[in-house]
Amino acid sequence: MPSSKTRIAIVGGGVAGLVVARHAVAKLDTYSLVLFEQTDQIGGTWVYTDETDLDKHGLLIHSSMYKNLRTNIPKEIMAIPDFPFQDSNGPSFARHSVIREYLVAYAKHFNLHPYIKLNTLVKHIEPESTRNGQTLWTVTYESLETKAETTKTFDAIVLCNGHYTVGHVPHIPGIESFRGRRIHSHQYRVPEIYAGKKVCILGASWSGIDIALEVSQYANKVYLSHNLPEQLDSKMSSNVEQRPGVESVRGNVFIFRDGSTTEVDDFIFCTGYKFTYPFMSAKVEIRTDDDHVEPIYKHLVHMDYANLFFMGLPAFVIPFPMFHIQAKYILGILEDRVKLPSPQQMREEYEMEKKSLLAQGIPLRHINKLKDRQWAYYDEIAAAANIPSFAPVIKKIMDHVFHMRDLDFTTYKNYQYRIIDSENFSTSYCKPC
Ligand SMILES: Cc1cc2nc3c(=O)[nH]c(=O)nc-3n(C[C@H](O)[C@H](O)[C@H](O)COP(=O)(O)OP(=O)(O)OC[C@H]3O[C@@H](n4cnc5c(N)ncnc54)[C@H](O)[C@@H]3O)c2cc1C
Repeated sequence: MPSSKTRIAIVGGGVAGLVVARHAVAKLDTYSLVLFEQTDQIGGTWVYTDETDLDKHGLLIHSSMYKNLRTNIPKEIMAIPDFPFQDSNGPSFARHSVIREYLVAYAKHFNLHPYIKLNTLVKHIEPESTRNGQTLWTVTYESLETKAETTKTFDAIVLCNGHYTVGHVPHIPGIESFRGRRIHSHQYRVPEIYAGKKVCILGASWSGIDIALEVSQYANKVYLSHNLPEQLDSKMSSNVEQRPGVESVRGNVFIFRDGSTTEVDDFIFCTGYKFTYPFMSAKVEIRTDDDHVEPIYKHLVHMDYANLFFMGLPAFVIPFPMFHIQAKYILGILEDRVKLPSPQQMREEYEMEKKSLLAQGIPLRHINKLKDRQWAYYDEIAAAANIPSFAPVIKKIMDHVFHMRDLDFTTYKNYQYRIIDSENFSTSYCKPC
């Protein structure tokens, strides 16, 4: 007999999947759910491993965490709104293991485990139209332990499969002739292996700078190569030299865009990641080129399927609390409390916004990088979901972090933040931990 409850399939047991599960579990009269997780643990990218390539099942290692990683957002504002970090005294920029433990505690606190299938890979998702014009979804998944394959039908799909696993690696003419070690930041784990080496790091976004700082403590020289219009004048170790993008490579000689050359022993691509949905039926239109996913409304809902959701698309945001609001918005749609425009109207609205962003000089690949646009986004979907948005103190702390980071990349994580109330915070400088 068909279930009277809305059946939700959640793909992925990182923070996004856990947050969606937590809100569905709070309404078990309305929902039945299954959260599929291909690995043997929850936590997604926060599950550190020394491994870098394939796991024991031949799947790509999911996590991109490196051994010494500390968060780049203070945990006081990174927390999911209904679950503060238990250790309120620890450093604000926490080690990755603290975040992983926090997610384990979250799942335990909200009793999510009965709904999680670990070691279970979602292999295929297929839309099926019913006679009344609704779309149902058949999900085919494999138990990686028994190899048994099962297909089940769901009313809604929430994709929480992460997008920091498949690296974007630009082609550089002559790179095949390079004889040194060449990795993507997804495979970076420890800086010690670069002791005494000349290392070129391509890309100066968060990972590029973070890895350059770590590696420069061991390497002889770090060339931080990037095409940013401005030089990063924030303090860096004296053995870090900035160069423009890499034009070509001849053996171990790197030729940069300004014509300068240098010899390099090791090369690290910090050039971002690709969005991938390898399990999705070809019937579902998803464009993922140019670091950007379409056709998605409000960075969340497929415009042709109001029951297919994509979590985690916006970048340069505060992901954990954003997932909390996004999960509430999704349930609002499923419960018909949040009314979506028609597919045609969603497309028109999106195209208009895209046109305006492009006209402001924001390229397509940066449309999902919300930065200053994030606050209006949270407010908008929180209002639609009828829940409070971020308190003003969150933005104030984030602005302070950016300011301190711009002043000095090497010390901004030594500040400790404390939220006083929804408007105010205090900060103090602590010795490096
Ligand atoms: C190096 C690095 C540093 C970061 N630092 C910060 C930080 O300081 N603060 C911050 O807030 N954010 C940070 N982030 C962003 C981080 O990605 C998000 O905070 C958040 O963890 C994303 O969660 P997610 O659930 O979307 O994806 P993930 O954590 O990647 O989880 C996705 C899950 O889906 C599973 N999965 C994938 N495909 C399938 C399938 N077919 N079947 C079943 N399961 C599947 C994976 O195994 C994984 O467990 C960082 C990211 C990286 C890579």
